[in-house]
Amino acid sequence: MGGKKLTVVHGAGIITVDSEERIYVNGALAIEGDQIVAVGHSSSVLAEYSSRADEIIDFEGSWILPGLINTHVHTSQQLGRGIADDVDLLTWLHDRIWPYESNMSEQDSYISTLLCGIELIHSGVTCFAEAGGQHVSGMVKAVDELGIRACLTRSTMDSGVGLPALWASESTDTCMKIQEDLFTRFNASADDRIRIWFGLRQILNATDDLLLRTKEAAAKCNTGIHMHVAEIPFENEWVMESRGVEHGTVSYLNKIGLLDHNLLAAHSVWVDASEVEMMAQARVKVSHCPAAAMRMLGFAPVAEMLSAGICVSLGTDGAPSNNRMSLVDEMYLASLINKGRVVFERGTTDPTALPAETILKMATINGAKSVLQGQSIGSLEVGKKADLIVVNPDKWTMIPLHDPISSMVYCMRTENISSVMCNGNWIMRDQKILTVDEALVMANAKNAAMKLITRAGIQLPKRGNVIY
Ligand SMILES: [Zn+2]
Repeated sequence: MGGKKLTVVHGAGIITVDSEERIYVNGALAIEGDQIVAVGHSSSVLAEYSSRADEIIDFEGSWILPGLINTHVHTSQQLGRGIADDVDLLTWLHDRIWPYESNMSEQDSYISTLLCGIELIHSGVTCFAEAGGQHVSGMVKAVDELGIRACLTRSTMDSGVGLPALWASESTDTCMKIQEDLFTRFNASADDRIRIWFGLRQILNATDDLLLRTKEAAAKCNTGIHMHVAEIPFENEWVMESRGVEHGTVSYLNKIGLLDHNLLAAHSVWVDASEVEMMAQARVKVSHCPAAAMRMLGFAPVAEMLSAGICVSLGTDGAPSNNRMSLVDEMYLASLINKGRVVFERGTTDPTALPAETILKMATINGAKSVLQGQSIGSLEVGKKADLIVVNPDKWTMIPLHDPISSMVYCMRTENISSVMCNGNWIMRDQKILTVDEALVMANAKNAAMKLITRAGIQLPKRGNVIY
């Protein structure tokens, strides 16, 4: 078969997340090169493939799931973890994040993405959508080395108040040219693991010209657009005032034709019922980031979006918005938040909202559709790419295991994820990342973070009675 490596993994429980929701209690997968060529009962897969397999691994006692997909993460913010805790949104943005991001070098971006990637891989993520950061070339280098899959986006702004001097002068032409060049240079690189998307930071920092040209360019390149949408009430008020629409960002984006199947709208918290309908009609994808939302933004109507047919997936957002870059934690939070959210409207919780099977789909197949790769990743099926995680439930966190799907959502911790395969290659085995030197990355990250915070002049208020 063309010399491609054939791997058989067997003896494990397999949660396929395919359209028939198949779960094999004693299952196996055959993987040839980067593709899944068989999924089924261990006995039948072994009978067909074991004689010519290059590697046969017995995962008895483990569970195998599709790799998780994080659809909103700022990899370049990883060195800024802890610089913006317990502050209001404007302080967060103007005094911490913008000084931090505008002082980053390409090397910082590379180190930050490596550090973030380590945390993502440990939490079972095989693919992520970058929300828009600086120095995409640094991210590309890191993603290539990590062996993970990513849709990379440059943070793009051509207007707005309070921007750092370095960014304030970027014209719409420059914004477009840089992104088009990035697309030409890097799209489909690293064995097609890397896709380049177009970015819109948020409507407060985008002229109509930038919005419309971004839509046109993304359509021409057949790629996606990643944008923060309807994050805070102020954003909607600003849009109503400056753009003359009756409601907020989503209504305006609908009016100018920006809502489309290739728009990944992060957060989308402050939307009304008519806007949910607009997004559903246009097949917009929504990235729900429960931790970041609860911390700073509010409660998105996720249950309503899902029942309107919107593809909602999960994201961690960046380290300064969440601190934990674990999609495992987000699965747990997404279910809890959305069960509790209706307390404000109905005076009671809804324990049936967003059940475990829905959450698992959001973290896998919906994530795949959100990054426009629903045909090739997001479930364990013949013909799809071999992106998978191996879960060891034999720890105090997951014992006893009565109901596999609920256990993966409500009990699993990052520490239960033992091995990760992306694109047919093991990138983590027995909780050791095989592609990069974790200790070296962490040492470099500490050093780079300290220098960057000093260079950016970011002062953190002292807490506690610190004794040196
Ligand atoms: Zn974000």
